[in-house]
Amino acid sequence: MQSRPTKYIFVTGGVVSSIGKGLTTACIGALLEARGLKATAVKLDPYINVDPGTMSPFQHGEVFVTDDGAETDLDLGHYERFLGTRMSKLNNFTSGKVYETVIANERRGDYLGGTVQVIPHITDEIKRRLKLAAEGFDICLVEVGGTVGDIESLPFLEAIRQMRSDVGVQNTLYVHVTLVPHIATAHEFKTKPTQHSIKEITGYGIVPSIIICRSEQPLDEKIKNKISLFCNVSPNCVINAPDVKTIYELPLHLNNEGLDQRIVELLNMWTGAPKLDPWTKIAASVTDTSRKTVTIAMVGKYVDLTESYKSLSEALIHSGVANNCKVKIVYVDSEGLETAEVEHALKAANNGEMVDAILIPGGFGVRGSEGKIAAARFARERKVPFFGICLGLQIATIEYARHVAGLKEATSEEFEPNSSCAVIHIMDSQKKVEQKGGSMRLGAYPCSLKTGSKAREIYGKAQISERHRHRFEVNNAYRDQLEKAGLTFSGTSPDDTLAEIIEIKDHPWFVGVQFHPEFQSTPKIPHPLFTSFVAAGLAAKEKSAVTVEKGGDKKSSGSPSQRGVTANAVQQELTSSLTRN
Ligand code: GLN
Repeated sequence: MQSRPTKYIFVTGGVVSSIGKGLTTACIGALLEARGLKATAVKLDPYINVDPGTMSPFQHGEVFVTDDGAETDLDLGHYERFLGTRMSKLNNFTSGKVYETVIANERRGDYLGGTVQVIPHITDEIKRRLKLAAEGFDICLVEVGGTVGDIESLPFLEAIRQMRSDVGVQNTLYVHVTLVPHIATAHEFKTKPTQHSIKEITGYGIVPSIIICRSEQPLDEKIKNKISLFCNVSPNCVINAPDVKTIYELPLHLNNEGLDQRIVELLNMWTGAPKLDPWTKIAASVTDTSRKTVTIAMVGKYVDLTESYKSLSEALIHSGVANNCKVKIVYVDSEGLETAEVEHALKAANNGEMVDAILIPGGFGVRGSEGKIAAARFARERKVPFFGICLGLQIATIEYARHVAGLKEATSEEFEPNSSCAVIHIMDSQKKVEQKGGSMRLGAYPCSLKTGSKAREIYGKAQISERHRHRFEVNNAYRDQLEKAGLTFSGTSPDDTLAEIIEIKDHPWFVGVQFHPEFQSTPKIPHPLFTSFVAAGLAAKEKSAVTVEKGGDKKSSGSPSQRGVTANAVQQELTSSLTRN
């Protein structure tokens, strides 16, 4: 039997950047998946970097890592969280990567003396990559990064224009996401930017059949009809996507607007009604204001850049769903901790209240490391639930070495290259690395869990697979000494050469992992480590409330939000990180 051809949905954006094209793309995928279709998504990034792996978090936000070790755009994280499909290196490519391939072909002589040009050589390479990623899927969503009108995205637009004649009109659909601003003084929504954006993209030969209008407030029919008239789409193909309380509500909103129905009609596909139950439940849980709140301090360096910890904050939301609680994250600058007393700094970041748990996320470089070590020490000594991720494991190991194992000079080679007591050192495989990009230990590796350990209990199995992104590791020369001092290496590479998980006994919850579990957490399948960590935070909160009540000081029990305390600048209510902006 001949397989059905893949249908392509191309998503472009206009008016301004950061309007949530990635989320919209992911939600379209979720809706089509809910209709029983097999969907994947590809992100095209117009910049020249070969991948985002070498870009600063200030420039790019989180680098999302796939199982096969690709360092990708954070939109792939959205795709994985909304779609059942796992992403791979096929699902994200940049102009730099396309040019790299074409130039390598040219050097090999593949073009037989021809002049190598944007059309057809660059556009052909873009299309080749798209078709490869789409193989075996009913639907391939293609999100073009940047905003229509950018010079650098032109080859991508040209390639997706050509795709229509390559694979057929019936197999392609163009969706344009725009912003419809509201001018407060005129009390009016303005459609002109959308009109201009449609005019611009039509000029490239791409005619969108669906326009998704982002707006702060819901648009009325009059505005939708106006956009329909001026932009040449049916009124029911003007889809409104107003700001939502949680991103997990978005599939439901878009379905309510008829988006998935329009898509299957336009692509001439027959499917059943979408099964949206899981999304209804997740959205209801995340927006339930009666839930208890657990407060987690995230101690890191890029606290102003919450986009750098995107998967992490989402994973915490997922575990909130699993624990039926709201997870509030307070971001604490680790550099500030170097000078301030930890307890004082944590309370200052949380409106004077102690946090329920501490998390140290992945990171790079010496800056702020002493503050993180102080936070890990505080968590260990004061029995506050603690989760160290990647650099967080390394920090916790250094802290334990210094203050429990008696290795006062313990540090990481990353912080002090010539240290005589590097309990964390460069991995052998990293010693000969000369080129920065794509050269860390990347992607999924197996890990064996020790019988009787907390990790084994949490995962409920003996072997796991988790994704990595690091160059340094626990130095095996110190493993015995650390173990004797009470540190458990509860997860290791199957050949036992690499420490993957540490934990300590006599503590309610103290775990460090060398990998990034956040990359595998989805709202439908929250990650067990985060779920267990948040549960420990809740237990700690309840215990401290009981203690406080026994002590008679009822005023300070309960979280700030339960007592109506408003958020300050350092503190970010989880709901605000959920709001699309
Ligand atoms: N900087 C550390 C390393 O390279 C940790 C990396 C991380 O946290 N992703 O090993």
